Amino acid sequence: MTTVLTKSFPQEKPPVTRVVPSKKRVLIIGGGFAGVAVARALKRADVDILLVDRRNHHIFQPLLYQVATAVLSPAEIAAPIRQIEAKQKNISVLLAEIKGIDPGARTVEATCPGIGGRKLEYDFLVIATGMRPSYFGHDEFARFAPGLKSLNDAETIRTKILSAFELAESTDDERERARQMTFVLVGAGPTGVELAASIAQLASVTLRNNFRKIDPAKSRILLLDGGARILPTFAESLSGRVAKRLSKIGVEISTGVKVEKVDDQGVIAAGVRIPSATVLWTAGVSASPVVKMLGTKTDRAGRAFVGAFMDIPEVPNVFVVGDAATMIQDGHPVPGVAQAAIQQGRFVGHLIANRLRGRKDGPPFRYRDKGNMAVVGKNFAILEAGHLRSSGFVTWLVWAALHVLALPQLQNRFRVQTQWLWSYLSGQRSSRLISEGPRSSAPE
Ligand SMILES: Cc1cc2nc3c(=O)[nH]c(=O)nc-3n(C[C@H](O)[C@H](O)[C@H](O)COP(=O)(O)OP(=O)(O)OC[C@H]3O[C@@H](n4cnc5c(N)ncnc54)[C@H](O)[C@@H]3O)c2cc1C
Repeated sequence: MTTVLTKSFPQEKPPVTRVVPSKKRVLIIGGGFAGVAVARALKRADVDILLVDRRNHHIFQPLLYQVATAVLSPAEIAAPIRQIEAKQKNISVLLAEIKGIDPGARTVEATCPGIGGRKLEYDFLVIATGMRPSYFGHDEFARFAPGLKSLNDAETIRTKILSAFELAESTDDERERARQMTFVLVGAGPTGVELAASIAQLASVTLRNNFRKIDPAKSRILLLDGGARILPTFAESLSGRVAKRLSKIGVEISTGVKVEKVDDQGVIAAGVRIPSATVLWTAGVSASPVVKMLGTKTDRAGRAFVGAFMDIPEVPNVFVVGDAATMIQDGHPVPGVAQAAIQQGRFVGHLIANRLRGRKDGPPFRYRDKGNMAVVGKNFAILEAGHLRSSGFVTWLVWAALHVLALPQLQNRFRVQTQWLWSYLSGQRSSRLISEGPRSSAPE
C-alpha cells in the first residue's frame, strides 16, 4: 500500500520524499455514519483509503441520550474505528484533527496528538465531519449548558444530573434544593424530547427510595422551545401525542419561549428567571468548521452546498456527505439524519469506485426516506414513514429492534440488549456513576 503521508510541518522544510503513488488515494475526513459508509462502499476498489478522525471511535449518536441518563455506558454505543475497519485491507486509519485544506495542491493539513502536523495528499477528498452544537451566537452559554454530541458531552451531562440529586439531598437550603431539582432543556427536537423523558423516568422510577431527604419524583423537568410546537420535523398529530405523553410522565413543556440568558444560576426565558443547576442545550447545530476550509459556499448553519453528486462543482474531486452537506430535494432539504448520511456516503463511495474503473457516473444522488422515529421513555415511541404514522408500545418495540440492529458491532448489540432487558425488568440503570474528571494518581 502506498502511504499518503508524504511530508511533515511545521518543522522547517524537512526533505520531502514524494512517493509516486501506484494507486489513487481517497482521503475521508470523519469516521461517523457517512465516512464509514464511504469507506465500506470502496471495499473492493483498487485504492488506498485514509480515514482520518480526531476521535478513535465511531459513535452511535441516536443512543447518546441513554449514556447521558445512565441507561448505557459509553463503550456500549461506540466502537473503535480501527476495529470497524480492521478487515478492509485497503484502508488505514489516522487519529488526527484536520486544520486546513488546500484544494489547489490537493493537500490537507492534520495535527496528530503528541506528534504534530502532517500534510496529507489526496486524489479524492470526502468531507464527512458532521455537526456540532450551535448556541446561535451565544457561545458563552456553552459553559453552563452542555450540548449532546460526543461521549464526553454525554458523561458531562450524566455527572451534572446525578450530582444535582446528590446536592439536593445534602443541602439544607430549600431554595437551593429546588434549584438542584429543576432540569431545563432548551430545544424540543428529538434529542430534547428523548432526554427529557429519560430524566423524568430516572427521577420517578430509578431513583425512587434511594434518597432520604428528597423525593426525586418531585423534580421539575422543563422543556423549552422557541417554536410553536415540539418535534417540528414530525407531523403535528404525532407531536401532539408526544406532548401528551411527556405531560403524563411529568415533563412541563413551554413553546414559543426564547431563552435569553444561561448562567450558573439557571436561565432567563421570556424575561422570567428559572433557577436551575442543570441546563442542557439541545436547540441548534452548525456544521464542523472543516467545511469552511474549502472556501466554497455554505448555508447559514455552515453546511456546504453540494451538487447533484454530493460534489462541490467548483472544486474537482471533492465531496461533502452527511450532516456537513446541504442539499434540496423536491423543494425540501435532505434531513440531517443517520439514514441520509449513510445513503450519501455509500453513493459517493460507489461513484469514486466507478470513476476509477473508467465508467460513467450513474444517476445523481436521491435520498430515500425510510421514516423517522423518536422515543419517549419506556413503552412509547413514534414513527412517521410516508403517510404512515404510528405511536405507542408496538412502535417502541420496533424502535428498540431497529436501534439494536443498527449498532456498529455484535458486542454492542449484545451488551445493549442485555442492559435494556435488565433495565426494563428492574427499572434500574447500570451506569449511575458521577465522573470525577481527570485526576492525578500521584500521592497527595
Ligand atoms: C444526540 C443525537 C441524537 C440523534 N438521534 C438520531 C436518530 O434517532 N435518528 C437519526 O437518524 N439520526 C439521529 N441523529 C443524527 C445523526 O446522528 C447524524 O445525522 C449523523 O451522525 C450524521 O453522520 P455524519 O457522518 O455526517 O456525522 P457524524 O456522525 O457526526 O460524524 C462526524 C465525524 O467527523 C469527525 N470530525 C469532525 N471534525 C473533525 C476534524 N476537524 N478532524 C477530524 N475529524 C473530525 C468527528 O469526530 C466524527 O467522528 C442524532 C444526532 C445526535 C447528536
